[in-house]
Amino acid sequence: MTHNTPTAQPAVLDTIAATRRYVREARAASRRVALVPTMGALHEGHLSLVTRGRELADVVIVSIFVNPLQFGPNEDFDRYPRTFDADLAALGGRADAVFAPSVAEMYPSGASQTTVHAGAVAGLFEGTSRPGHFDGMLTVVSKLFNVVQPDIALFGQKDAQQVFLVKQMVADLDLPLAIEAVPIVRESDGLALSSRNRYLSTTERELALGLSSALRVAGEASASGIAAARRAALAAFDQRPDVRLDYLDIVDPATFLPLGDDATGDALMLVAARVGATRLIDNAPLHF
Ligand code: AMP
Repeated sequence: MTHNTPTAQPAVLDTIAATRRYVREARAASRRVALVPTMGALHEGHLSLVTRGRELADVVIVSIFVNPLQFGPNEDFDRYPRTFDADLAALGGRADAVFAPSVAEMYPSGASQTTVHAGAVAGLFEGTSRPGHFDGMLTVVSKLFNVVQPDIALFGQKDAQQVFLVKQMVADLDLPLAIEAVPIVRESDGLALSSRNRYLSTTERELALGLSSALRVAGEASASGIAAARRAALAAFDQRPDVRLDYLDIVDPATFLPLGDDATGDALMLVAARVGATRLIDNAPLHF
């Protein structure tokens, strides 16, 4: 495998046709192609996906698309941060190309009549608060896979349910690519990086540490079993009444279904909470 060094400025591709041409040329040169799907407002978490992509492929394409299909009517689609110039600068020397289509390029008829239905797990956790979110996400991810036809696509473990559902779709529909999950990148105090962190005031930023603290104390209590870990995490939220817990669950990473109190082995604790008007999610592996 020959690794090329990407140029300071990634190629900017804003049409499906130009992207297909770009990828065709890469393939003609026997290059392995990695795709990193994002909604932009890039931070070090996104960049860790790009760095891992460089290790696994010769050409890294980052897509930047705020997908209307995965936002609910009362969600933050309109005010979602769009920082294209800064994103491009951050990707300089890291990504080879950026696929940044308009909404009209992706959905020329205004909406997609044909969508991917994510299945039962999509109705749990994030799906409870965000009905239709995962169908919208899988639909756009399928479109991105079909446009770019990557050998590998990289997703962050930060959105654990998303990466589970993407892997499930790839297996169920025999999609010809590999999915790589990349560990969560955190600030030094534990806060998981998120594009939505920029919505937080200084006070809210402090409160937001409630999510990672709860995961940490759950980890510390995990030697005493699932019920103890859950109790410890819930107690951490009780100490921060301004952090409004949406859900806190412990799931089997293999099925993404809740584990009973007697379960042993690998587990994943999921949390979602609101701080002010901002909804944040986080998760951490546990072992029982
Ligand atoms: P988004 O732009 O929020 O759709 O995120 C694009 C990709 O970056 C998704 O696969 C996310 O899981 C991943 N990502 C977001 N935040 C982080 C983080 N803190 N660490 C690792 N990956 C992340």
